[in-house]
Amino acid sequence: MSTAAPIVIVGASLAGLRAAQALRKADPAREVVVIGQEEHLPYTRPPLSKQLLAGEQEAEHVALPGGDLDVTWRLGVRATGLDRRAHEVVLEEGPPQPYDRVILATGCRARPWTGPGAELSGVHVLRDLPHALALRDELRAGARLVVLGAGFVGCEVAATARRAGLEVTLVDLAAHPMLPLGPAIGSRMADLHEGEGVALRLGVGVEALHGDGRVNEVELADGSRLPADVVLVALGAQPNVEWLEESGLTLDGGVVCDATLTSVDDPDVLAAGDLCSWPHPLAQGDRIRVEHWTNAVEQGTLAGANAPLDPVERAAHVAVPTFWSDQYERKVQAVGLPGLADAVEVVREGDGKLVAAARRDGRLIGAVAFNDVRGLMAYRKALAAGEDVPPPGAADDAEPAPLANGAR
Ligand SMILES: Cc1cc2nc3c(=O)[nH]c(=O)nc-3n(C[C@H](O)[C@H](O)[C@H](O)COP(=O)(O)OP(=O)(O)OC[C@H]3O[C@@H](n4cnc5c(N)ncnc54)[C@H](O)[C@@H]3O)c2cc1C
Repeated sequence: MSTAAPIVIVGASLAGLRAAQALRKADPAREVVVIGQEEHLPYTRPPLSKQLLAGEQEAEHVALPGGDLDVTWRLGVRATGLDRRAHEVVLEEGPPQPYDRVILATGCRARPWTGPGAELSGVHVLRDLPHALALRDELRAGARLVVLGAGFVGCEVAATARRAGLEVTLVDLAAHPMLPLGPAIGSRMADLHEGEGVALRLGVGVEALHGDGRVNEVELADGSRLPADVVLVALGAQPNVEWLEESGLTLDGGVVCDATLTSVDDPDVLAAGDLCSWPHPLAQGDRIRVEHWTNAVEQGTLAGANAPLDPVERAAHVAVPTFWSDQYERKVQAVGLPGLADAVEVVREGDGKLVAAARRDGRLIGAVAFNDVRGLMAYRKALAAGEDVPPPGAADDAEPAPLANGAR
């Protein structure tokens, strides 16, 4: 290992930026190189389906503070491999980039539609800034938008487009929008969208997109056809791991790490953000990946702080995951891992607010709220302390049950 080589971060987005900031804070003199395939300095993605898409913000508003950080930015540069023996990041063009330690933060991309009609114009995905600007150009009042996939991004775009006066149809194979949050939450999200005038086609898949150069129809598996001027493919995200396939690192859809975000194969390799797969106490020590903003911030910061240290000195990432989604006037927030729950039970509801507890085998592992930060915080506190919040009706003096493996 050459001590003269810089610490290199691959992926110049949220997790990569936070890692660079943490490295700079730890050592103002250390050489840090950030490699990113996008031409832009790091920007924040949540507004791409909300304020920017609605025209309330422009590209300059989504830039993340920190682009002036004193590191070497290598933008518009794609990494194509990691040669761990040589300690080099292989690049699409030019000589490889040597590293002392490397932080992998290449995140995810949008899962495309690969069925018939994928080549038609008017068919969009949404992950990067240019995607959002291209989609925004097509969101004209009165146009018919069909959204394939009623997950977070699909629902947010449906809400934004509806507010912009489009006719919106939301299609999903699942029986409810945002199904990972459970049917109780999903049915309320369905009511919200229907109340706003979105047409829901749930429990049915997509067969094909049709058009003559440009999309004009979406064919569903039940044979029905939806007229469409614009289609958004919002079928989830795929981790950008392919470039690491020859590296010898263990990949399970993400880069497999230990609790300190260090690769299980190589102490000189760390990962952070959407790409990182690491064991979490709330999942009973199973590895998870979390595709949310706060996780990218927390993991990027920790990976940056951990990278210069000896592996035995590195701190574990034990934060309770949190995330949010804004649709119309509803702020959906969640803590923990509600997506892994076998039961999501609404514990309080009224005045446009809601709090629901998410349990697995009876243990609290998460909570979801609508417009109720305070209600959610009791659950966040309990999850961080490794305690439970008794279900409604349980004896007031019941002992809090510890979480599996103690989420501390
Ligand atoms: C439209 C949208 C709305 C969202 N809204 C919310 C929200 O409301 N709440 C929430 O909690 N989360 C939200 N998220 C999720 C959040 O933005 C992500 O969790 C976060 O961006 C993850 O950051 P990251 O740095 O790990 O990965 P990414 O942001 O995916 O960044 C990875 C970077 O690596 C680059 N890269 C990939 N491969 C290579 C390579 N081979 N060489 C060089 N560079 C490479 C990519 O181009 C990209 O710039 C949203 C995401 C999207 C797309």
